[in-house]
Amino acid sequence: TINGSNESETPRDRLLGGLLTADFDEDSCLSRYQSSLYRKSSPYKPSEYLVSKLRNYEMLHKRCGPGTNAYKEAAKNLAHDDDENYANKSVGECRYIVWVAVYGLGNRILTLASVFLYALLTERVVLVDQRKDINDLFCEPFPATSWLLPLDFPLMSQIDSYDKGYARCYGTMLKNHSINLTSIPRHLYLHIIHDSRDEDKMFFCKKDQTLIDKVPWLIVKANVYFVPALWLNPTFQTELIKLFPQKETVFYLLARYLFHPTNQVWGMVTRSYDAYLSRADETLGIQVRVFSRRAGYLQHVMDQIVACTQREKLLPELATQDESQVTSNTTKVPKLKAVLVTSLYPEYSDNLKNMYWERPTSTGDIVEVYQPSGERFQQTDKKLHDQKALAEMYLLSLTDKIVTSARSTFGYVAHSLGGLKPWLLYQPVRGKTPDPPCVRATSMEPCFLTPPTHGCGAKKRKGSAKIVPFVRHCEDLRHDGLKLF
Ligand code: GDP
Repeated sequence: TINGSNESETPRDRLLGGLLTADFDEDSCLSRYQSSLYRKSSPYKPSEYLVSKLRNYEMLHKRCGPGTNAYKEAAKNLAHDDDENYANKSVGECRYIVWVAVYGLGNRILTLASVFLYALLTERVVLVDQRKDINDLFCEPFPATSWLLPLDFPLMSQIDSYDKGYARCYGTMLKNHSINLTSIPRHLYLHIIHDSRDEDKMFFCKKDQTLIDKVPWLIVKANVYFVPALWLNPTFQTELIKLFPQKETVFYLLARYLFHPTNQVWGMVTRSYDAYLSRADETLGIQVRVFSRRAGYLQHVMDQIVACTQREKLLPELATQDESQVTSNTTKVPKLKAVLVTSLYPEYSDNLKNMYWERPTSTGDIVEVYQPSGERFQQTDKKLHDQKALAEMYLLSLTDKIVTSARSTFGYVAHSLGGLKPWLLYQPVRGKTPDPPCVRATSMEPCFLTPPTHGCGAKKRKGSAKIVPFVRHCEDLRHDGLKLF
């Protein structure tokens, strides 16, 4: 039930099968325990092993998090990173991975989930760069501690300049043969961006991990969902199979564990939902992202949306003149289909709305079209803009069926969080509507857009999609990308 009581719910449902801990004050973050009221009951439950791993992680984070002696010691050592006198000092009992906020919100959500999974696998503590508006977007995910990297973190003033050229960039050190087990640095920078080299991207391989594992501080800038590649390391793979017996649930479960919108964002989600979606018989989400140089309203993209939704029978066709006569006489109770459109541009939903206003549908069903915002251009790091973006990703995830745009991390988050296999709109080439306009995904997982060219230890000729049976190329990229199935 949405607005009614939740008496019939067992505490286990509220906690998503044990995924969430009950150790939080509900009012401080309404979405954490209320979101289950807005979703159909989930067919994807977390494994017992994942649940116990999360509870252990929560204890680790509490022991090592900001404000603890362990954190203070680790941070202090870091301040003397280049001091010979400190070279042999103990590194402390806790190891950390710092996630730095870069690129758009979809990218950030995917990379934070990836970094968290890597932290789970390697028993590190995740701390997030709070200088951007992360705190206005998400509640704290771990009880009785904080995931925010303290502002007086010793390297804070340098982080923004970290790049491939930085002397402590792992890929660069590897290329220059300037790293080995005899001199373990106190911190390393991992560069997992679309322009990364294989040396950067393959930090997770077994031989790299023997060294990286000993480094107390890792600082990561990433803009790609690198989870599928973690399966290429056999040690991780064994663990991952136990954590996620259903492979395509990795992001779905991690996201539901980690990302709880703040009360402000949750208010935006629920007000839209209650006003436009809750009464519909069926809901469809359509996420329109235009990557071409000439962004904005493009007729061939509009045509593509109509072609995809009609061909895949996601929306009814318009009636011919004769049919309109017939439908007006029928006694069948029409269905209400609510369409939630998200885009930077309002024209796509305006057109769709007009289409279903000007003419009846051949089925007699009623189509209602709603678009919460039309921000025109990306304004990442502007608080309200980012909050709207998150609210819209979240709303999309609450729909019954979803159409998303190829290559868009915004779309990946929306469908994966919803546990939905999307219809992916191919990226148009040379201003033409692609034929076919879209493809149904076979898995709900996000795509790793720029994976390493080959697996750990494999010959370069053997593509990374051929190494393990549960990863394949992404549907929206045809012969590229890496995705779990
Ligand atoms: P991607 O570029 O599609 O992979 O997605 P990102 O989320 O990483 O970056 C795009 C950014 O543009 C978003 O975070 C928003 O700031 C903005 N944006 C793009 N599409 C939409 C949309 O449909 N709604 C809103 N509110 N913002 C959008």
